[in-house]
Amino acid sequence: MTQKIPTQDRSPNPVKINPDDEFDLYAKRKKIHPRTVKGFFQNIRNVSMSGMLLAYFLLPWLMWGDRQALLFDLPHRQFNIFGLTFAPQDFFFLSWMLIMGAFGLFVVTVFAGRVFCGYVCPQTTWTRVFMWIEKITEGERNARIKLDKADVSAVKIGRRIAKHSLWLVVALATGFSFVGYFTPIRDLANDFISGNLGGWGYFFIGLFTVFTYMNAGWLREQVCFYMCPYGRFQSVMFDKDTLIISYDHERGEPRGALKQSTAEDPLGDCVDCSLCVQVCPTGIDIRDGLQFQCIQCAACVDACDTVMDKLNKPRGLVRYTTESILEEHKPYHWLRPRLVGYSAVFVAVFILFVYALAIRVPLTVEALRDRSSMYRENSEGMIENVYTLRILNKGQVPHTYTVAVESEAGITLLPVSNVEVQPGELYSLPVTLQANPAELHKTKYEVEFKVKAVDVADISKETKTSFLGPHN
Ligand code: SF4
Ligand code: SF4
Repeated sequence: MTQKIPTQDRSPNPVKINPDDEFDLYAKRKKIHPRTVKGFFQNIRNVSMSGMLLAYFLLPWLMWGDRQALLFDLPHRQFNIFGLTFAPQDFFFLSWMLIMGAFGLFVVTVFAGRVFCGYVCPQTTWTRVFMWIEKITEGERNARIKLDKADVSAVKIGRRIAKHSLWLVVALATGFSFVGYFTPIRDLANDFISGNLGGWGYFFIGLFTVFTYMNAGWLREQVCFYMCPYGRFQSVMFDKDTLIISYDHERGEPRGALKQSTAEDPLGDCVDCSLCVQVCPTGIDIRDGLQFQCIQCAACVDACDTVMDKLNKPRGLVRYTTESILEEHKPYHWLRPRLVGYSAVFVAVFILFVYALAIRVPLTVEALRDRSSMYRENSEGMIENVYTLRILNKGQVPHTYTVAVESEAGITLLPVSNVEVQPGELYSLPVTLQANPAELHKTKYEVEFKVKAVDVADISKETKTSFLGPHN
């Protein structure tokens, strides 16, 4: 006999469907007007999100020596991160950083669920800022609902203009700062104000301004529902001991208004005030169970705690807990295979990364052949090849370098002075190799340039290229 698995519509606005009716699969978005809530977890969010915003807006202005501390300088193909310079050849480090970040996130998710989403995610943070602006320009939840329904009036237009103008100011500051991570921000600011930025600069600032305005102002929870991959795959990382925000069914049900509760027929602790739903930025009812839309912002926890305080009942009807505590009344488990596994990989990758960073040579050398001629013959009949050596000092102090060449067939380097290269500087040094044509028996020889710091031991790099001559 075929068994049907019972299902329940957990969507924010469940729709009753008659299978015989024709219906539209497109569900229109219902605008959410979250009520402001105060409480312990919202205070933590205020701190974490303020830190996030301060870091985002101030970091590009921070200097490290005479360089921008964080600069992903794409035109010059180098990343400056707190005094360290990374070239494209260091892509390996970027990959390790991403792997480390991914496993760090896995560990946090297995342990505390979507705490990243609720407390530091940029989408949640900027949306919260935009909601705060909405509140100061259009009022609290009820005032906003009323304003939405009201006919067009001078007050309505004025409030809307104020809201969108402030949104645009924040979005512009966000877009500008974002581009400031890729272009020296002080020059960017001067050029932006003086109108000398150039088309691409204005284009990218405009693009990220629109992006922020749309995501935080208009799309909001839709980004979490439909665009964020993390929101979708995090559920596979959950186990029964992952911290989640949950409603205590045993304690709360049957729900109902306080006055309906009698000695013979007592109700649970949930007075069905719907405050937990009104404060939810994603518009869900936590009493329906764990839902993928929940970003674990804990607004419902703080809201319900205030209700419980007023009713002189213990807090925690909606709280951080785990499935095994709630359903099986088991104590919290620390030692779980997933948590241990992800933590072990994270620690291993972190140690490898630090080790690789410690033994990294802070120098990159590249030899570019002169493309205008394969070789030339000088007045004494010697064959010459011309190159440009690109020397990038990836350290935190200036260094003086000497250049040597290793080759065969008597290929020698014409004398070249030592060069001093500043931290993060890419120095282009023209050099010439020379050979006696009588000693050249092939048209192509492999040569190796060796660049070595003269002021400190153990900093040297080699780069190979070819020496071309006439065919004998
Ligand atoms: S805030 Fe608490 S008491 Fe009110 S409906 Fe939600 S769970 Fe029930
Ligand atoms: S259900 Fe609670 S924790 Fe989840 S998003 Fe809504 S308010 Fe935040």
